Amino acid sequence: MIVDRQGRRFRNLRISLTAACNYACTYCVPDGKRLVAAQDELSADAMVRGVAYLIEAAGIERLRITGGEPLVSPKLEPFLREVSQLGLQDISLTSNGQLLSRKLPLLVESGMRRLNISLDTLDPDAFKRIARGGDLDSVLQGLEEAKGAGLKVKINMVPLRGQNHDQVLPLLDYCLERGFELRFIELMRMGHLARDGGGFQQQFYGMDELLATIAERYEFVQADAPLDATALRYEIPGHGFFGVIANESVPFCRTCSRLRLSSTGWLHGCLSSSNRHFVGDLLDKPRHQALPALQRLLVRALGDKQDLAFSGGVTVMKIIGG
Ligand code: SAM
Repeated sequence: MIVDRQGRRFRNLRISLTAACNYACTYCVPDGKRLVAAQDELSADAMVRGVAYLIEAAGIERLRITGGEPLVSPKLEPFLREVSQLGLQDISLTSNGQLLSRKLPLLVESGMRRLNISLDTLDPDAFKRIARGGDLDSVLQGLEEAKGAGLKVKINMVPLRGQNHDQVLPLLDYCLERGFELRFIELMRMGHLARDGGGFQQQFYGMDELLATIAERYEFVQADAPLDATALRYEIPGHGFFGVIANESVPFCRTCSRLRLSSTGWLHGCLSSSNRHFVGDLLDKPRHQALPALQRLLVRALGDKQDLAFSGGVTVMKIIGG
């Protein structure tokens, strides 16, 4: 097992099935152009081999499928079919939910029990302004169906000053009523936001302000969370839970156990580092050749993790999977 001097190791793998996305969210894509799949994206087979090799070489236990937007990819079905045979403790998916209704039977059939759906607002106009694609009603419809199918749903919201910070309480009410756990993700300094003049400071809406807003309506207490959790969890007694991923206010680098594999075969050990390690070529090799080389790259990827706090990075989430 590869462990660093802070005792961190890779347990959780996020795989970006494709860089293509049917949204172009303002905080993710500066020019508003929707990303298409890269020409050199890994096949579903190569990705499954990648996961299998990483289970062995790094001790991966849990997998999250992300993107880009995973539900737009034709690789989803073959990938899910194979990867669910690998004996992982948990497989989940992060999606914008636009195609959720259509893809729900496939997700349920694969045995998936948990979904994270990104939803920044319940206001249709603000939705169009932020996502620059899709429509709110389709997402809400998909969410009702996922709930009906018994899936455990978390909603991811990135609060942005001046764009959707008025939606903190409406979204929290919406989630509490349905038994969804809302997770507020503090805006991260990534891609264009990491540059001077990128608008990070103007848009950032931090945890202190967020909790003060929630306290106007609800009493809440901090709840237990797993040791390597990135979210602080709170309970609103009698109503439910919510979480805050406070990468700026309460950094979680010390306990980060995440590894990311991009759709084009690059390993990323840290969201905040521009270092990446190409493994695409190893995935065509037999296990006895691939594993030693992979282990050497994993040592370097673990070394890329920040000691204490996220310091921003030029990489954008949709390339490496948020
Ligand atoms: N398309 C899928 C979705 O919308 O959930 C998966 C990919 S998306 C990049 C994953 C998550 O990253 C989303 O919840 C999105 O809001 C978040 N995200 C992207 N850029 C971000 C940023 N700069 N700061 C915080 N969260 C960000």
